[in-house]
Amino acid sequence: MIPFNRQVLMGNELEYIQDAYSQGKVSGDGKYTKLCSEFMERTFSAKKVLLTPSCTHALELAALLIDIQPGDEVIMPSYTFVSTANAFVLRGARPVFCDIRPDTLNIDEEKIEALITERTKAIVPVHYGGVACDMDRIIEIAKAHDLYVIEDAAQAVNARYKGRYLGTIGHFGCYSFHETKNYSMGEGGAIVINDERFIERAEIIREKGTNRSKFFRGEIDKYSWVDIGSSYLPSDISAAVLWAQLEKLDEIQEKRLSIWNAYYAALKPYEEAKTIRLPIVPDYAEHNAHLFYVLFTDEQTRDKAMEDLKKQGIHAVFHYIPLHSAPMGQRYGYSEGDLPVTEDLSGRLLRLPMYAGMRDDELQFTVSRVGDLLKNPSDNPNKSLTRDHHRGRISKGLRD
Ligand SMILES: *Cc1c(COP(=O)(O)O)cnc(C)c1O
Repeated sequence: MIPFNRQVLMGNELEYIQDAYSQGKVSGDGKYTKLCSEFMERTFSAKKVLLTPSCTHALELAALLIDIQPGDEVIMPSYTFVSTANAFVLRGARPVFCDIRPDTLNIDEEKIEALITERTKAIVPVHYGGVACDMDRIIEIAKAHDLYVIEDAAQAVNARYKGRYLGTIGHFGCYSFHETKNYSMGEGGAIVINDERFIERAEIIREKGTNRSKFFRGEIDKYSWVDIGSSYLPSDISAAVLWAQLEKLDEIQEKRLSIWNAYYAALKPYEEAKTIRLPIVPDYAEHNAHLFYVLFTDEQTRDKAMEDLKKQGIHAVFHYIPLHSAPMGQRYGYSEGDLPVTEDLSGRLLRLPMYAGMRDDELQFTVSRVGDLLKNPSDNPNKSLTRDHHRGRISKGLRD
C-alpha cells in the first residue's frame, strides 16, 4: 500500500529529545523551542515567532489578540480546514465565507470587498497547498477598511509571495507542524507576529495571562496575573523533534518539490488531453510542494478514480467538505449554491500521495497507475476540461 502520507525521521530527532532531557527542562520555552523560533525569525525575516501546540491554537491566539467580540465578522474561504473558522467562532465571531479563485483555489480577492460590513474585523486568507494568495491586493483592501489580516499559513511554511515568506505579510501568520504538514513535530504550530504592538500581549496570553516571559528574561523580579490567557506552549520534547526537521528545511522542501515536479511532468499530457486539470501556480508564488492534486471533470469521475487507486494499493484522498455547506455553516445561514466555484472544485479534487520520504518506485507506481486510469476513462467520455489561458482561469467545457 502506498500511503497518502508517511512520517520521516530526518536523523537527529531522537538525539535531540535525549538532549532536551539532559537540559533538565522539557516544558515550554526551553532550548529547542528557542532554537526553532529564532531560526524561523532569522530565516523568514519574521519579527516574532512563538511556538504553539498547534496551528489551531495559533489562530485562537490571533483571535484573542485582535480582541474578537461576539457579533464581529471575519472573512475567510469556505474551502479550508475547520480551525480557520473555529478559532474566531469560539470568540463569538460570525464566519463570512468568500468564494475561491478557480486557478489557485485560494480566496478570490476580488470578491472580498462586497462582503465587508461595519462589523467586519478581519480577513483570513488561507494559502492553499502552500501557494500564495494575492497578498498585495488583500493588504490593500484591509488597509482601506481598517481590517486585520491573519494568514492561515498552516500549509505554507517556507513558501513565498513575491520573495516574502508566507505568514510574515499580514498582522499575524499561523503555521502548522502537524504530522500531515511539510515539517512535523507530531502536533504543533507557531504564530508569527508581524506587528510589534502585539508581541508583549501575545507572550502574556500564551503564558496563562502572566508576565512570566519577562520574568524569565530577567526584566522583572516576579511574575503575576496581568491579563486573560491560556497555555499555548508546546513542550520542549516536541520542539526538539521540530528542530531536527527545521535543520533540514530546504532539503525537505527540495525532496517534495522534486516529487511535485515529477507528478506534474508525468500528468501534463493528460491535462493537454483535457481529462484532468493540474495545479496552477501564479508567477508571484514560490510554493513549497505541500500537496499535489488533480481536478477531474466531475465528482463521479473523481470518486471512481479514488476507488480504483485504492484497489491498486494507492491511498489518494480528497478534502474539504466546504465549511459553508457543513452543518455548522448552515447554522450561519449558508446553503448549497452560495459559493459555486468552491462547490464545483471541491467535488472534483483528488490529492495524490506526497511525503518527503516517498521512494522513486512508489512515485513511479503511482504515476503509472494514475496514467492507466486516465488512458482508459470508464465513463463520461465526452466531458473534458479547458483552461482559459487568457485569464489564467479554467472553465468546464465539452471536447469538440
Ligand atoms: C492543518 C491546517 C490547520 C490546523 O493545523 P493544526 O496544527 O492541526 O491545528 C489549519 N488550517 C489549515 C488550512 C490547515 O491545513
